[in-house]
Amino acid sequence: MKTVLFVVPVFNEALNLTTFLKSIQSVELPSCDYQICFIDDGSTDHSWEIIEEFSRSNLQVYGVRLSRNFGKESALLAGLDSCEADAAIIIDCDGQHPIETAVQMINIWIKGNVQIVEARKKTRNDSSFIYSYFARMFYSLFSYLSKLDFENATDFRLLDASVVRALKSFPERNFFFRGLSTWVGFKRTTVEFDVLARVYGHSGWSIWKLTSLALNSITAFSSFPLQLVTGAGVVFLGVSVLIFIRALIVKFQGASPDGYTILLFTQLFAGSMMMISMGIVGGYIGRIYEEVKSRPRFLISETTRSQRGRK
Ligand code: UDP
Ligand code: MG
Repeated sequence: MKTVLFVVPVFNEALNLTTFLKSIQSVELPSCDYQICFIDDGSTDHSWEIIEEFSRSNLQVYGVRLSRNFGKESALLAGLDSCEADAAIIIDCDGQHPIETAVQMINIWIKGNVQIVEARKKTRNDSSFIYSYFARMFYSLFSYLSKLDFENATDFRLLDASVVRALKSFPERNFFFRGLSTWVGFKRTTVEFDVLARVYGHSGWSIWKLTSLALNSITAFSSFPLQLVTGAGVVFLGVSVLIFIRALIVKFQGASPDGYTILLFTQLFAGSMMMISMGIVGGYIGRIYEEVKSRPRFLISETTRSQRGRK
């Protein structure tokens, strides 16, 4: 019998965990065994105590506790790292990812034709207008730069063991899960689902975390911004030549130069262009610095007993 591992990142989800576990236990999974790995990503509420309790009373459940909040991507990596099952399903425990969709994914995977089943959003009813506007803008920019299709993509997906192995072999620190699990290729299909509203609490993503994820993922998948710097330099050079020619003409006509405004403009414009370009180049150097340091992507402070027993 095949085994499926639910990989569940948890950040301050104490109020959602029990409902989530019950929802998995209440569905009939198509002829396969399952395990659940909860990764506590440095929660400050009592999520970890609940996970410990779950693993005491359920053989199928184990928990991994990270030493601090490393972010969802790292939590997912920690979960996939522990995966010995035939497939892993990445799922949120806040009630936004319907368990019925996970069952649908297993049904598709078990037939053996595909190795990745991605869930795509049909609708999204939890986010504010501004959030969805920026999310849409980011994903169109990202899709354009990386040439990967990200329209309505989510992290909610089933990965066959072969895909999990491939992902585990990635050495990069800057791990953008959704991007890389698409980049790897493999035979894939999609299912659609309605994103439900969060049951308790609010999204753990601050604007800062989201912006930094957006910047990290763009620099991880495309060097186009660097070419943009060169492009802007060329355009600026062209404009400077025109301004220079005009200044020469004015000079030979004997008129007194009236260049103050244009001088001020070019100075300020050149200055800002330089700073933006340095920022873009600096962003890439920063990424290289992070990669070269090769620090671990997550640190585990403890695991539940059943996990220790398993290994
Ligand atoms: N999460 C995490 N670490 C974080 C932020 C979130 O492990 O730093 C988990 C969270 O507990 C949830 C999942 O990632 O199970 C998705 O997070 P959230 O619901 O906050 O994001 P959204 O649904 O808004 O994308
Ligand atoms: Mg959520």
